[in-house]
Amino acid sequence: MNRRYRKTIIAGNWKMNMTPTEARALLDAVKSQCAKAKWCEVVVCVPYIDIPLAVRVLKDCRVSVGAQNLHQETNGAFTGEISANMLKDAGVKYVIIGHSERRQYFGETDALVSQKVGRALDAELRPIICVGETLQQRDMGVTLEIVGAQVKAALSGVTADKLRRVVFAYEPVWAIGTGRTASTEQAAEVCNHIRTLIRKIYGARASRGVTIQYGGSMNDANAKELLSELDIDGGLIGGASLKAEAFAAIVNAANQ
Ligand code: PEP
Repeated sequence: MNRRYRKTIIAGNWKMNMTPTEARALLDAVKSQCAKAKWCEVVVCVPYIDIPLAVRVLKDCRVSVGAQNLHQETNGAFTGEISANMLKDAGVKYVIIGHSERRQYFGETDALVSQKVGRALDAELRPIICVGETLQQRDMGVTLEIVGAQVKAALSGVTADKLRRVVFAYEPVWAIGTGRTASTEQAAEVCNHIRTLIRKIYGARASRGVTIQYGGSMNDANAKELLSELDIDGGLIGGASLKAEAFAAIVNAANQ
Protein backbone atom coordinates (compact mmCIF):
# COMPACT_ATOMS: atom_id res chain seq x y z
CA MET A 1 0.00 0.00 0.00
CA ASN A 2 2.72 2.47 0.91
CA ARG A 3 4.36 2.08 -2.51
CA ARG A 4 1.35 3.72 -4.07
CA TYR A 5 1.84 6.88 -2.03
CA ARG A 6 5.49 7.18 -1.15
CA LYS A 7 8.96 5.99 -1.97
CA THR A 8 10.80 3.36 0.00
CA ILE A 9 14.32 4.67 0.53
CA ILE A 10 17.33 2.67 1.69
CA ALA A 11 20.15 5.03 2.63
CA GLY A 12 23.62 4.03 3.76
CA ASN A 13 25.38 6.25 6.29
CA TRP A 14 29.08 5.61 5.95
CA LYS A 15 29.85 7.98 8.86
CA MET A 16 33.60 8.80 9.09
CA ASN A 17 34.71 5.71 7.20
CA MET A 18 36.24 5.11 3.77
CA THR A 19 39.06 7.14 2.33
CA PRO A 20 38.59 7.91 -1.37
CA THR A 21 40.95 5.03 -2.16
CA GLU A 22 38.88 2.62 -0.05
CA ALA A 23 35.57 4.06 -1.26
CA ARG A 24 36.17 3.17 -4.89
CA ALA A 25 35.70 -0.58 -4.41
CA LEU A 26 32.61 -0.17 -2.21
CA LEU A 27 30.99 2.26 -4.67
CA ASP A 28 31.67 -0.11 -7.56
CA ALA A 29 30.13 -2.98 -5.59
CA VAL A 30 27.08 -0.92 -4.57
CA LYS A 31 26.63 0.13 -8.17
CA SER A 32 26.73 -3.42 -9.49
CA GLN A 33 24.61 -4.93 -6.70
CA CYS A 34 22.02 -2.23 -5.92
CA ALA A 35 21.46 -0.21 -9.06
CA LYS A 36 18.69 -2.44 -10.41
CA ALA A 37 16.30 -1.88 -7.49
CA LYS A 38 13.03 -0.75 -9.05
CA TRP A 39 10.78 -0.35 -6.05
CA CYS A 40 13.06 1.52 -3.77
CA GLU A 41 15.49 4.39 -4.01
CA VAL A 42 19.04 3.68 -2.91
CA VAL A 43 21.27 6.39 -1.43
CA VAL A 44 24.82 6.39 -0.10
CA CYS A 45 25.62 9.19 2.37
CA VAL A 46 29.37 9.41 2.14
CA PRO A 47 32.01 11.63 3.81
CA TYR A 48 32.44 15.01 2.05
CA ILE A 49 35.83 13.98 0.67
CA ASP A 50 34.23 11.00 -1.14
CA ILE A 51 31.41 13.00 -2.76
CA PRO A 52 33.08 13.82 -6.11
CA LEU A 53 34.13 10.20 -6.55
CA ALA A 54 30.70 8.87 -5.55
CA VAL A 55 28.96 11.23 -7.98
CA ARG A 56 31.30 10.13 -10.77
CA VAL A 57 31.00 6.39 -10.10
CA LEU A 58 27.22 6.43 -9.60
CA LYS A 59 26.48 8.75 -12.52
CA ASP A 60 23.81 7.31 -14.83
CA CYS A 61 22.76 4.70 -12.30
CA ARG A 62 19.82 4.67 -9.92
CA VAL A 63 21.87 5.07 -6.73
CA SER A 64 21.90 8.65 -5.40
CA VAL A 65 24.59 10.39 -3.39
CA GLY A 66 23.93 11.94 0.00
CA ALA A 67 25.94 13.94 2.54
CA GLN A 68 25.92 13.53 6.31
CA ASN A 69 25.59 17.15 7.45
CA LEU A 70 25.69 20.77 6.28
CA HIS A 71 26.13 24.20 7.86
CA GLN A 72 23.09 26.30 8.71
CA GLU A 73 24.38 29.43 6.96
CA THR A 74 24.51 29.81 3.20
CA ASN A 75 28.15 30.96 3.02
CA GLY A 76 30.78 33.04 4.80
CA ALA A 77 33.45 32.88 7.46
CA PHE A 78 32.78 29.41 8.87
CA THR A 79 36.13 27.70 8.52
CA GLY A 80 35.91 23.99 7.92
CA GLU A 81 32.17 23.93 7.19
CA ILE A 82 30.18 23.07 4.07
CA SER A 83 27.06 24.73 2.68
CA ALA A 84 23.91 23.33 1.15
CA ASN A 85 24.70 25.00 -2.18
CA MET A 86 28.15 23.43 -2.26
CA LEU A 87 26.64 19.99 -1.79
CA LYS A 88 23.98 20.64 -4.42
CA ASP A 89 26.55 21.88 -6.90
CA ALA A 90 28.70 18.79 -6.28
CA GLY A 91 25.80 16.52 -7.31
CA VAL A 92 24.40 15.58 -3.90
CA LYS A 93 20.67 14.82 -3.67
CA TYR A 94 20.09 13.90 0.00
CA VAL A 95 21.57 15.15 3.26
CA ILE A 96 21.27 13.62 6.73
CA ILE A 97 20.33 16.24 9.32
CA GLY A 98 20.26 15.93 13.11
CA HIS A 99 21.81 12.47 13.33
CA SER A 100 22.03 11.49 17.01
CA GLU A 101 25.84 11.50 16.78
CA ARG A 102 25.65 15.17 15.73
CA ARG A 103 23.20 15.92 18.52
CA GLN A 104 25.30 14.04 21.08
CA TYR A 105 28.90 14.92 20.13
CA PHE A 106 28.44 18.29 18.44
CA GLY A 107 25.65 19.75 20.56
CA GLU A 108 23.09 20.05 17.76
CA THR A 109 19.78 21.24 19.12
CA ASP A 110 16.27 21.03 17.68
CA ALA A 111 16.53 24.72 16.75
CA LEU A 112 19.75 24.13 14.82
CA VAL A 113 18.26 21.09 13.11
CA SER A 114 15.34 23.26 11.99
CA GLN A 115 17.71 25.86 10.50
CA LYS A 116 19.66 23.16 8.67
CA VAL A 117 16.46 21.64 7.28
CA GLY A 118 15.58 25.10 5.93
CA ARG A 119 18.97 25.47 4.20
CA ALA A 120 18.72 21.99 2.69
CA LEU A 121 15.26 22.66 1.29
CA ASP A 122 16.26 26.12 -0.02
CA ALA A 123 19.04 24.39 -1.97
CA GLU A 124 16.61 21.75 -3.27
CA LEU A 125 18.33 18.98 -1.36
CA ARG A 126 16.23 16.28 0.31
CA PRO A 127 16.85 16.29 4.09
CA ILE A 128 16.79 12.96 5.94
CA ILE A 129 15.83 14.24 9.39
CA CYS A 130 16.88 11.94 12.23
CA VAL A 131 14.80 11.76 15.40
CA GLY A 132 14.86 9.31 18.28
CA GLU A 133 14.89 8.81 22.01
CA THR A 134 17.67 7.73 24.37
CA LEU A 135 17.36 4.53 26.37
CA GLN A 136 16.67 6.56 29.49
CA GLN A 137 13.81 8.37 27.77
CA ARG A 138 12.34 5.08 26.53
CA ASP A 139 12.57 3.61 30.01
CA MET A 140 10.82 6.70 31.38
CA GLY A 141 7.97 6.14 28.91
CA VAL A 142 8.41 9.47 27.10
CA THR A 143 9.49 8.21 23.67
CA LEU A 144 6.50 9.55 21.76
CA GLU A 145 6.70 12.97 23.44
CA ILE A 146 10.43 13.30 22.73
CA VAL A 147 10.17 12.19 19.12
CA GLY A 148 7.06 14.33 18.61
CA ALA A 149 8.86 17.43 19.88
CA GLN A 150 11.83 16.73 17.60
CA VAL A 151 9.55 16.29 14.57
CA LYS A 152 7.58 19.48 15.27
CA ALA A 153 10.75 21.51 15.78
CA ALA A 154 12.35 20.18 12.60
CA LEU A 155 9.24 21.04 10.57
CA SER A 156 8.67 24.46 12.12
CA GLY A 157 9.68 26.37 8.98
CA VAL A 158 8.61 23.79 6.39
CA THR A 159 5.70 24.60 4.08
CA ALA A 160 3.37 21.89 2.78
CA ASP A 161 4.92 22.25 -0.64
CA LYS A 162 8.43 21.63 0.70
CA LEU A 163 7.32 18.75 2.92
CA ARG A 164 7.24 16.57 -0.18
CA ARG A 165 11.04 16.56 -0.22
CA VAL A 166 11.43 15.72 3.47
CA VAL A 167 12.38 12.24 4.69
CA PHE A 168 12.30 11.21 8.36
CA ALA A 169 14.45 8.54 9.96
CA TYR A 170 13.30 7.22 13.30
CA GLU A 171 16.52 6.19 14.99
CA PRO A 172 16.34 5.18 18.65
CA VAL A 173 19.68 6.32 20.04
CA TRP A 174 20.10 3.06 21.98
CA ALA A 175 19.91 1.06 18.75
CA ILE A 176 22.52 2.94 16.73
CA GLY A 177 25.77 1.06 16.31
CA THR A 178 24.92 -1.17 19.27
CA GLY A 179 23.69 -4.28 17.47
CA ARG A 180 20.45 -3.83 19.40
CA THR A 181 17.49 -3.29 17.07
CA ALA A 182 14.11 -1.89 18.05
CA SER A 183 11.43 -4.54 17.80
CA THR A 184 9.23 -4.28 14.75
CA GLU A 185 6.36 -3.17 17.02
CA GLN A 186 8.45 -0.46 18.68
CA ALA A 187 9.71 0.86 15.35
CA ALA A 188 6.25 0.76 13.75
CA GLU A 189 4.63 2.52 16.71
CA VAL A 190 6.99 5.48 16.53
CA CYS A 191 6.93 5.72 12.72
CA ASN A 192 3.14 5.70 12.88
CA HIS A 193 3.23 8.42 15.53
CA ILE A 194 5.40 10.58 13.27
CA ARG A 195 2.95 10.14 10.39
CA THR A 196 0.01 10.97 12.64
CA LEU A 197 1.71 14.18 13.74
CA ILE A 198 2.42 15.14 10.15
CA ARG A 199 -1.23 14.46 9.31
CA LYS A 200 -2.33 16.80 12.08
CA ILE A 201 -0.07 19.58 10.80
CA TYR A 202 -0.30 19.15 7.00
CA GLY A 203 -3.33 16.92 6.37
CA ALA A 204 -3.89 13.30 5.36
CA ARG A 205 -2.67 13.57 1.80
CA ALA A 206 0.65 15.12 2.75
CA SER A 207 1.24 12.62 5.54
CA ARG A 208 0.65 9.67 3.20
CA GLY A 209 3.42 10.89 0.94
CA VAL A 210 6.19 11.25 3.51
CA THR A 211 8.87 8.56 3.63
CA ILE A 212 9.66 7.51 7.22
CA GLN A 213 12.65 5.23 7.62
CA TYR A 214 13.80 3.17 10.56
CA GLY A 215 17.47 3.21 11.55
CA GLY A 216 19.36 1.41 14.29
CA SER A 217 21.33 -1.77 13.66
CA MET A 218 19.19 -2.68 10.65
CA ASN A 219 20.90 -5.52 8.81
CA ASP A 220 20.35 -8.26 6.25
CA ALA A 221 18.79 -10.51 8.91
CA ASN A 222 16.18 -8.12 10.34
CA ALA A 223 15.41 -5.81 7.40
CA LYS A 224 12.65 -7.91 5.85
CA GLU A 225 10.53 -7.97 8.98
CA LEU A 226 11.00 -4.28 9.78
CA LEU A 227 10.25 -3.28 6.20
CA SER A 228 7.07 -5.35 6.11
CA GLU A 229 5.43 -2.71 8.33
CA LEU A 230 3.22 -0.27 6.42
CA ASP A 231 4.61 2.77 8.21
CA ILE A 232 8.30 1.84 7.83
CA ASP A 233 9.32 3.08 4.41
CA GLY A 234 12.94 2.09 4.31
CA GLY A 235 16.05 2.28 6.41
CA LEU A 236 19.00 4.42 7.35
CA ILE A 237 21.84 1.96 7.61
CA GLY A 238 25.16 2.57 9.34
CA GLY A 239 27.44 -0.43 9.91
CA ALA A 240 25.81 -2.72 7.35
CA SER A 241 26.20 -0.11 4.58
CA LEU A 242 29.97 -0.60 4.69
CA LYS A 243 29.60 -4.16 3.39
CA ALA A 244 28.21 -4.26 -0.14
CA GLU A 245 26.60 -7.71 0.23
CA ALA A 246 24.79 -6.82 3.46
CA PHE A 247 23.65 -3.48 2.05
CA ALA A 248 22.45 -5.15 -1.16
CA ALA A 249 20.51 -7.72 0.87
CA ILE A 250 18.68 -4.89 2.67
CA VAL A 251 17.96 -3.21 -0.66
CA ASN A 252 16.61 -6.53 -1.95
CA ALA A 253 14.36 -6.87 1.09
CA ALA A 254 12.97 -3.38 0.41
CA ASN A 255 12.57 -4.05 -3.27
CA GLN A 256 10.07 -6.88 -2.90
C1 PEP B 1 23.08 5.26 11.65
O1 PEP B 1 24.25 5.62 11.66
O2 PEP B 1 22.19 6.06 11.33
C2 PEP B 1 22.78 3.88 12.04
C3 PEP B 1 21.53 3.49 12.06
O3 PEP B 1 23.85 3.08 12.35
P1 PEP B 1 23.81 1.47 12.58
O4 PEP B 1 23.02 0.89 11.43
O5 PEP B 1 25.23 1.06 12.57
O6 PEP B 1 23.13 1.24 13.87
